[in-house]
Amino acid sequence: MDLDFDKNHIWHPYTSTINPLTCYPVIGAQGVHLELETGEQLIDGMSSWWSTIHGYNHPHLNAAAHSQIDKMSHVMFGGITHNPAIDLCKKLVDLTPSNLEKVFLADSGSVAVEVSLKMALQYWHAKGEQRPKFLTLRDGYHGDTFAAMSVTDPNNSMHSLYKGFLPEHIFANSPQAGFWDEWDENDLDDFKHQLEVHHKQIAAVIMEPIVQGAGGMRIYHPEYLKGVRRLCDQYGVLLILDEIATGFGRTGKLFACEHANVQPDILCVGKALTGGYMTLSATVATKHVADTVCGGEAGCFMHGPTFMGNPLACAVGAASLELIEQGEWQQQTKAIETHFSHTLPRLLEHELVSDVRWLGAIGVVEAHKNVNMEVIQAHFVEQGVWIRPFGKLIYMMPPFISTEDEIQKLIDAVEGALHKAECFI
Ligand SMILES: *Cc1c(COP(=O)(O)O)cnc(C)c1O
Repeated sequence: MDLDFDKNHIWHPYTSTINPLTCYPVIGAQGVHLELETGEQLIDGMSSWWSTIHGYNHPHLNAAAHSQIDKMSHVMFGGITHNPAIDLCKKLVDLTPSNLEKVFLADSGSVAVEVSLKMALQYWHAKGEQRPKFLTLRDGYHGDTFAAMSVTDPNNSMHSLYKGFLPEHIFANSPQAGFWDEWDENDLDDFKHQLEVHHKQIAAVIMEPIVQGAGGMRIYHPEYLKGVRRLCDQYGVLLILDEIATGFGRTGKLFACEHANVQPDILCVGKALTGGYMTLSATVATKHVADTVCGGEAGCFMHGPTFMGNPLACAVGAASLELIEQGEWQQQTKAIETHFSHTLPRLLEHELVSDVRWLGAIGVVEAHKNVNMEVIQAHFVEQGVWIRPFGKLIYMMPPFISTEDEIQKLIDAVEGALHKAECFI
């Protein structure tokens, strides 16, 4: 592979052109394995960023893609519809919380978030109210486009770089009680305070339910989310839940909001929607939100991406949801959670480790020090696994089909890194 060309000309996510780190050449992927050009097989502990829940090269998903590409890979969605979109959206309406009925398809998670924010703004405009602000949580992550970034943690996403352009929203302290901790009602104080003070300006609350992903891999108490729903109702503010990372079984429930028995007014899904095959996302709203938006001045929802409802992506998405409907993910994520709960606490004995946490098919080891990315990445590859930490966080979110042995290999590799001082700065 022409790695020199790659190094000199291709930007990778969050990387420098001056000091590009090593990129590992992958030539294939099968089941839970990534195959390197050198022939090595790595157990994937990342599911390619939460998405490859059923594993790579899945026969059912491959068949759906092959069958669809021979019919049509794309047609515009304006004035045209097709079975792949209908099949997918039927399943989405069926699987998502029962109050959600109207599906808007988009191309990526960030765009699904943009769409949800625009929906909330149009909703209040239609009701004749000026509500230009959103309330969200510190340590959150909602994507890299501007509006999504504006509700992402201001420090992590370096809002200072975009000052003057980036809209300024309202941030409440992130939840402190962990998922398995005792609940403390005071946890909601700041959120409640922000809502009390600003609610007349707030179009919606947007947050990740139960697991704050890329903003810090924090797993919080379901009572917090219950309180948020209660307060949103009390103050008459919409609730947008971003399940782009947590949706489709990752936390051990089909959607993380089920841990708290709450339903959002608007839900964003993406990442695992196509089982990691294609880029596709959806924003699903209640009939009330959708009808209010469309009853407003514009008479419609003002959005329509070129590749909206891409048939190829929808066909694979529908096939992935068929696998979800078969239900094996429940035992699989339960088994992974049990394994994490038996093995991760022991890592706390290590002086470098400040916290461990887990839920469903998510395992997190937080260190006292930042990782040395170049060194720790090489360590993981040498151990036959693919884990990509950030900052102080080493985390695993393997494909649901991973066996106990494969999960253990991931944990062993993490433990190995803790014994190598050079893996940390
Ligand atoms: C990844 C992610 C996004 C952004 O999705 P992209 O497909 O990367 O644009 C938004 N919200 C959450 C919670 C995510 O994890």
